[in-house]
Amino acid sequence: MTRAGIGYDLHRLAEGRKLILGGIELPFPKGPVGHSDGDALAHALCDALLGAAGLGDIGTHFPDTDPQWKNVSSLLFLERTRELLSELELRIVHIDAIVIAEKPKLGPHFPAMREALAHSLGIAPSMINLKAKTNEGVDAIGRGEAIAAQAIVTLER
Ligand code: MG
Repeated sequence: MTRAGIGYDLHRLAEGRKLILGGIELPFPKGPVGHSDGDALAHALCDALLGAAGLGDIGTHFPDTDPQWKNVSSLLFLERTRELLSELELRIVHIDAIVIAEKPKLGPHFPAMREALAHSLGIAPSMINLKAKTNEGVDAIGRGEAIAAQAIVTLER
């Protein structure tokens, strides 16, 4: 059995917040506003994994009203999701994701992001593909006010 799942997330950027993306901190003057660390890529990936497993969404499992998730690393969400998948005997086959950000340049950080995400999910970095897009200066993302991410995953049992 093979199943696919899709995920999307967006976080507003504000001065004085750390920019955490794909489980690592990037040098940048602004960072995501969020209850957790606001890692849009980890959140999109988490939603894609939960979707493929038929387990709802990130808000159900890790609600932003729950104090235990305040300021936590979103890699923790991936680690918990990995446990949920293994309870269902579901294995990750492949992950593909797009991060949409006007700045900073993301490509050079992808190897470290793939390493961090793969470590949390217990898979090889080669099973994670990351792509970067800008929004061509258009809309909130294009003005540098937000970062978004999309992910698709394939699971098998
Ligand atoms: Mg989020």
